[in-house]
Amino acid sequence: MSWKDNLRKIEPYVPGEQSKEKDIVKLNANENPYPPSPKAIQALKDFNAESLRLYPPADATPLKKAIADYYGVGVNNVFLGNGSDDVLALAFQAFFNGDKPIAYPDITYSFYPVWCRLFGIPYKTYPLDENFRINPEDYREENGGVVLPNPNAPTSIGEDTEFIQKILDYNRDSVVIIDEAYADFGVQSAALFVDSDSYQNLLVTGTFSKSRSLAGLRIGFAIGSKALISVLEAVKNSYNSYTVDSLSIAMGIASFEDRDYFTATVDKIIATRERMTARLRELGFTVLDSSANFIFATHNDYSMKELFEYLKTEKVFIRYFNLPRIDNYIRVTVGTDEEVDIFLKETEAYIRR
Ligand code: PMP
Repeated sequence: MSWKDNLRKIEPYVPGEQSKEKDIVKLNANENPYPPSPKAIQALKDFNAESLRLYPPADATPLKKAIADYYGVGVNNVFLGNGSDDVLALAFQAFFNGDKPIAYPDITYSFYPVWCRLFGIPYKTYPLDENFRINPEDYREENGGVVLPNPNAPTSIGEDTEFIQKILDYNRDSVVIIDEAYADFGVQSAALFVDSDSYQNLLVTGTFSKSRSLAGLRIGFAIGSKALISVLEAVKNSYNSYTVDSLSIAMGIASFEDRDYFTATVDKIIATRERMTARLRELGFTVLDSSANFIFATHNDYSMKELFEYLKTEKVFIRYFNLPRIDNYIRVTVGTDEEVDIFLKETEAYIRR
């Protein structure tokens, strides 16, 4: 017996590569190509660095209030964490403690199985249909919880509120988590159901990393009933009471207050996404209808793995998943118009070789 036998053996989630190379077109991590709101940047400039000697306010109420006001819920309906990955990992620990498997799609955010393995949570996956859609009827089966991203990743497909309501109506006895990392780019938030007494088992998670251009700060949040939020707070306070730092609080508030910049940036990304989708379709690609800040595409005549590798040699980084059913697809983040034009030009060069 060696000390090595007691080390945890675990296969972690692999995020999109963060290259040190200069001049790359980075469309591989679903980051926002535009800077954060000028008001958030001003909040950073105005920040009193000397105040960093103090712990941040443990409950971060002013930031919770900014989020609560935006979604039309109470401050007690908001939870904060270090990115929505942190919030989701805490929610898995807080809510999935039964013996029944939790349910999610076979093709979805690949962090879910990692957390299940880390925390010993049983899970069952339900295949997306041939059009990569989630079949809500699958989630009628008894389960220990449901997790669905809306829009789903990496498919980019979003579902409407009727679909979400169906999932909620089928699952009165388990916690339903809707992961809205990309919701601002095309679906209505399920936070509107949080008000309802009927759906106290709903948790909606969101992030500042995508639509608010603050991936580097690591701020995520959840919106849910007081019953769920208080359990999340208790789990969080059982290992670290100060999850969000003072600077994140200041910049996060400023970001939520600047609605005009937020809307303008999201609209720009959507316009570029539609242009990029149309051009790829002209080139013979099948592109799923995206409600996110990335597109998911394939081509019958070409290997997407080879396209991914070719683009990398041309300093255009996109994402390729060598996984069942999607191993001839690429996921491409919507960048600026200039970045997307370089991606399109290099893609065209590849298929015309
Ligand atoms: N959910 C989904 C579906 C994602 O793709 C991501 C980003 N990798 C996250 C949650 C987490 O993002 P963050 O921790 O930056 O909030």
